[in-house]
Amino acid sequence: MTNVVNSAALHYTNRFSWEMDKKQGKRFQDDTLAVLAGEDFHPLSASQPPIFQTTNFRFDSVDEMVDYAEGRSSQYLYTRNANPTIEVAEKKLAALERGEAGLVTSSGMAALACALFGSVKSGDRILAARSLYGGTLHLLNDIVSRFGIAVDWFDIGDPDSLRRQVQPATRLLLAESPTNPALRLLPLKDTADFARERGITSILDNTFASPWNQKPLELGWDVVVHSATKYLGGHSDVTAGVIVARRELIDRIAQFRRWFGAVLDPSAAYLLIRGAKTLALRVQKQNDNALRIARFLEGHPQVEAVNYPFLESHPQYELARRQMRGGGGVLSFSVRGGWPPTRTFFNSLRMIPISTSLGGVESLVTSPFWTSHYGMSEAELRDSGVTQNLVRLSVGIESVDELCDDLDQALRLSASSEVSSPSGSARK
Ligand SMILES: *Cc1c(COP(=O)(O)O)cnc(C)c1O
Repeated sequence: MTNVVNSAALHYTNRFSWEMDKKQGKRFQDDTLAVLAGEDFHPLSASQPPIFQTTNFRFDSVDEMVDYAEGRSSQYLYTRNANPTIEVAEKKLAALERGEAGLVTSSGMAALACALFGSVKSGDRILAARSLYGGTLHLLNDIVSRFGIAVDWFDIGDPDSLRRQVQPATRLLLAESPTNPALRLLPLKDTADFARERGITSILDNTFASPWNQKPLELGWDVVVHSATKYLGGHSDVTAGVIVARRELIDRIAQFRRWFGAVLDPSAAYLLIRGAKTLALRVQKQNDNALRIARFLEGHPQVEAVNYPFLESHPQYELARRQMRGGGGVLSFSVRGGWPPTRTFFNSLRMIPISTSLGGVESLVTSPFWTSHYGMSEAELRDSGVTQNLVRLSVGIESVDELCDDLDQALRLSASSEVSSPSGSARK
């Protein structure tokens, strides 16, 4: 009998265990982490993490309940607090961001709300980049500001504005890079150093880069948040968010997720796990496709300008090469001739649907002017680089030649209809 036990133990220790290797300080590459991180957990020898579609967990006796209450056991209790499927997603995404711990939430906005409220209290000030996602701007302007928390704004392109805007009560710095839709960059290391020197917690929304392209925690940021709805899920079929940080910060923020009720459903957590496994393949193809398309558009007579961090013409190209592995799947460009040709361009696309969101395997186009930036003042539009003829393209993993063909035929049609009839539409 002893032999059997020993050989079983030997067999086990020989087998790959991400958690054990991690404890011994082994570092894995991102493509390995995307597949294996967080997945040591194999009940009933399942090869894949089971979906624990349960809201509650049983105690074998009331004595266990007493042990739980008095902190002597740490079993699962209630899914809003913790659930094994959700924890697999959290470990995988934390590993990809090179963070100690992760917390998945019911959406990217839930992640931002938990991270923000978990980091400040009444009387504190937040220093926020002007160029944030629209929902985040609403959260700051309409919600956070009602709880005695003031917000100061800085320009990511102007390092002096950080120095000018910081105040003694500033406790939190919040930014995004690259930005939507102008694809401008924040110098990540310098900004993290600036916050650290002043004891300010720094949060970076890393949605537009994805952990494959950018690692804010390694550059000194305290907290990373994502709309996992985008690249991490990767298939436009799950709404989710994630927060990654040091254990101590995550434990604090976890209380907010618990009491806000912003947990992710276990089935959605499974979709996130499934999607994240191919992150490296998907995002690398999106990087390659987007760069090819950006170059193609830059040489197109119907295109005025292209914004993409890995184009040599991008004003922060050197910075992009320093802090990012690739430019990501999102680019924006302006169609020559104003709104009528731009409208014809949108309506003439055959393969690429008009739809908001980004980061999925399928390419999508949208008009920032008519969606995220609709109704903004002239000055705000100018600051964010939004015009009526700006197109935002989220590049998927389709054949890049076929994507270029679709863009090309729609751009040609846009040229031929520079004075288009307002009622006509090329889309059937
Ligand atoms: C989409 C997005 C969000 C919001 O995420 P949801 O999952 O839609 O709640 C936040 N930040 C950025 C940069 C986004 O693109």
